[in-house]
Amino acid sequence: MWLPQERFLAKFARPFMLMAFVAFLAAFAACNNTQPATSAAASERQPAALPQTDLPPAQSAPPAAQTGGFDGAKAYDFTAKLVAFGPRPPASDAIHRTQDYIASQLKSFGCAVDVDAFNAETAIGSVAMKNIIAKIPGTGPGIILLMTHYDTKRIDGFLGAEDGGSSTGLMLEMAQVLCARPKQTNAVWIAFLDGEETQGSFDWVDADAMFGSRELAARMAVSGDLKHIKAVILADMVGQRGLVIARDTYSTKWLNELIWRTADRLGYGDVFVKKDAPIDGDDHIPFLHRGVPAADIIDLNGYSYWHTTQDTLDKISPRSLAIVGHVLLESVGELQKR
Ligand SMILES: [Zn+2]
Repeated sequence: MWLPQERFLAKFARPFMLMAFVAFLAAFAACNNTQPATSAAASERQPAALPQTDLPPAQSAPPAAQTGGFDGAKAYDFTAKLVAFGPRPPASDAIHRTQDYIASQLKSFGCAVDVDAFNAETAIGSVAMKNIIAKIPGTGPGIILLMTHYDTKRIDGFLGAEDGGSSTGLMLEMAQVLCARPKQTNAVWIAFLDGEETQGSFDWVDADAMFGSRELAARMAVSGDLKHIKAVILADMVGQRGLVIARDTYSTKWLNELIWRTADRLGYGDVFVKKDAPIDGDDHIPFLHRGVPAADIIDLNGYSYWHTTQDTLDKISPRSLAIVGHVLLESVGELQKR
C-alpha cells in the first residue's frame, strides 16, 4: 500500500536514510567479521508466539461470544503460524508452505476452495503466483468479496506480521466462522491474494504490484462474476497494538459509511475513527477501476515498523484482530440485508 505522503519520503528523505544506513553498515563491517544476517537467520530470531496468557491483558481478545462469534485469539494464532513460515515473497519456498497451509486450513473448515495459479509479468521477470479463494455459496447471484494479501515484501528478514500476516490470520478465522454458517442470500468469497507488494523495487510502482487483485478482477470479469459483486472489503494491516483505522478516501463512500456505522454501533468508534487517509495503492484499486464498490480497512499511518524487519509478531494484538473481525463480520451481515 502506498500513501501520497510516502512519495515525499521516497524522493527526499529515503536517499539520506539510505546513505546513513550504508555508513552504519560500513562502520559495522569495520569492527565485525561476522557474516551479514541472512533472511533465514533473521527469521530464526523472530519472537516466539506469545501464549494468550502471557500477553498484556489489554491486548487479549475478548471471548468470541462478545465479538459476534469471531475469535480474535484464533486469528492471532493463525497470524503466528504464518509468521513462523518466515519471509514469504512470491514464489519462495516459504510462500509455497504458506499456500499449502491456507488451502488445508480452509478445507478443514469445510470451505469450498478454488486455487488460481498464474504467472505474473513483474519487474524481475515472470513470477509464479497463486490466489486462493474460499467460496461460501448463497441462495442468490450476489457476491460479497472479502480480501487479504498473504505475500510479504521482498526485504531480507522481513516477516510481515502486520503487513500480510494480520489480515490473513483474520480472514482465516473469518472463513472458519462463515463456512460453518447456513446459506444466506449472497455468496461470500474470501480471497487470499498473492503478489500485492512491488517486486522489483522498494518503492511502490502500480504496474509492478497488486498482481493477485488484478488477476482476480480480470478473471471475474471474464467469468461474468464481477457484475454480481455487491461489495469488496479489503483488510490489510489490521492487527497492530493501538490500532486506529481512518477512512480511505479512494474507497466507495456508501461502503465506508456502512462499515463505520457498524463499528459505531458495536462501540468501536475509538478504533474506526472519523478521519480520512488516502490509500491509492492497494488491492481494492483494481476493483474500483472496474466500477465495483470497494473499501480498504488499513492502519498504515500508525505503524512505524511498516516495511522494516521489525514488523514482528510482538507488535500484534489479538484484541485488535477481534475488533476488526467483529466489525467485518457484522458488516457482511448488513450487506446481506441490502
Ligand atoms: Zn507492504
